[in-house]
Amino acid sequence: MTAAPTPTDPAVPADAEEAIAFADLGLRTELLGALSALGYEEPTPIQREAIPPLLAGQDLLGQAATGTGKTAAFALPLLQRMPVGRAEGDPVSLVLVPTRELAVQVSEAFHRYGKDLGARVLPIYGGQPIGRQLRALDHGVDVVVATPGRALDHIARGTLRLGALATVVLDEADEMLDMGFAEDIEAILEHAPAGRQTVLFSATMPARIDGLARQHLTDPVRIRIERERPVAGEAPRVRQSAYIVARGHKPAALGRVLDVESPTAAIVFCRSREEVDRLTETMNGRGYRAEALHGGMSQEQRDRVMGRLRSGTADLLVATDVAARGLDVEQLTHVVNYDVPSAPESYVHRIGRVGRAGREGVAITLAEPREHRMLKTIERVTGQRIAIDKIPTVADMRTRRLELTQGALRESLLEDDLDPYRAIVESLTDEFDLVEVALAAVKLAHEATSPGSDDEEEIPQVPVRGPREGRPETGGRGERRGPGRPRTGGTTQVFIGLGRRAGVRPQDLVGAITGETRISGRDIGSIEIADRFSLVEVPQAVADEIIAGLRGTTIKGRKATVRRDRDGDGPGERRDRGYERRDRR
Ligand code: AMP
Repeated sequence: MTAAPTPTDPAVPADAEEAIAFADLGLRTELLGALSALGYEEPTPIQREAIPPLLAGQDLLGQAATGTGKTAAFALPLLQRMPVGRAEGDPVSLVLVPTRELAVQVSEAFHRYGKDLGARVLPIYGGQPIGRQLRALDHGVDVVVATPGRALDHIARGTLRLGALATVVLDEADEMLDMGFAEDIEAILEHAPAGRQTVLFSATMPARIDGLARQHLTDPVRIRIERERPVAGEAPRVRQSAYIVARGHKPAALGRVLDVESPTAAIVFCRSREEVDRLTETMNGRGYRAEALHGGMSQEQRDRVMGRLRSGTADLLVATDVAARGLDVEQLTHVVNYDVPSAPESYVHRIGRVGRAGREGVAITLAEPREHRMLKTIERVTGQRIAIDKIPTVADMRTRRLELTQGALRESLLEDDLDPYRAIVESLTDEFDLVEVALAAVKLAHEATSPGSDDEEEIPQVPVRGPREGRPETGGRGERRGPGRPRTGGTTQVFIGLGRRAGVRPQDLVGAITGETRISGRDIGSIEIADRFSLVEVPQAVADEIIAGLRGTTIKGRKATVRRDRDGDGPGERRDRGYERRDRR
């Protein structure tokens, strides 16, 4: 993307950059108020690039992954362009997304940003009772965020009317095509008014996305989150690693990583003021000496915080990018990205806080599974590897604590002040073996010095998605997409008592599974659709979750029997029953 100029030397503070505020982008005050209340301090690069042309009504083709702030990049202009206080019922914006999870997330984002504008936002996706959606549509909505299959259902019923649409957004378009939604998307776009604005965001830009864009976008502005000029060689030489962890486990993961790394002083970067405040409180509650630093603080407050860090009264600084610009603290040994930064440049600036002037530095990133791709982008742009590490386990933490106790004992042995205790040892050795006496002493020392562990729960290891680039491109009705991520555990087949006669297509099954569970479409293996039933290959480890999810929902409007496929029901036997196999191509 043609990003704002960025200093080429990481030692140059980023505030040398021309700071662009949300207000400079032409957003109305209601939206600015909402952003400020959320603690967003400045637009991300994709927002800087996308918001002005979208406000002007232009079509846009954006290459951006999760974590770049792309949702706000399209949601804010759409909200701004929405006529205020509209009484009419038909939506003016339609956002198509691949999964239920994303439909909910995106519509929540619209709610948050658009609450002062009174935006009426409705997520619609398969699995949710259709009655509720019908009533909501009937009452009138401004923005519909939908999965393609369910959107098409409503269009066919005449309950979702597209005549008033001013904008259609295809979010995570590559993912939608991967899931076999190509035809549904085409059909929906055909129903949309010709003069509408069309916006397409995709993490990757394979030929099919390009084709989709060429067909449905008019003279689009193109945006890439990667700079054309690589920053290779600019990034400081620091040890870089990342942990893939679900959001809810992040505070515990941060604690463990800090315990293992034992930084002299660390800076933890968060995206918003709100998160800075929340995390500071959490970490203080967990016994760390954390201080918050963000743009909402006065200079005096900030000076006080920096003083505490420099004097060693605090060892953890939790900060936003804006607040940490140009910061140079000698004690800093570690930079932690609590979230993946919104652009590679931001990553480079952040890790530039350590590893300066020949000092050693460590940069650690906590990434949610969905943000894994952004890490890859950063690696590519910086030309440096980010190793994916395993989150320390409970056993690792125990070992680490024992090491610390051992270190403390060694120090104590080297000091020459043990005489007062000699009498105790001598009297105990009359009764016990010397080694046993030592063991008991070590135990007491360990219990006294090592923080009691109230954090004994394992943090689940989240499997990392394989890179999607270069995967075969398939999809569409009746086809299966290319192989999913390499599976580590075994797979099993789930039987679903609905098949071709019920009009079931592979994308209905993928949609139902991804809509009802946390499983990604890429985890699903081959799908076989027979006349009266279907079989879906899924990872063993998540089969129960999928079965529970499917039992709680409807497919093509019908409840289905769902269970693990019977043992010994081999493929040969199935063929004998006149099975049609729709396998991966
Ligand atoms: P997205 O890439 O749209 O999934 O957004 C990633 C995360 O960044 C979401 O949690 C947003 O709430 C947050 N976010 C988006 N824009 C900003 C911003 N300008 N400042 C701080 N946080 C943001």
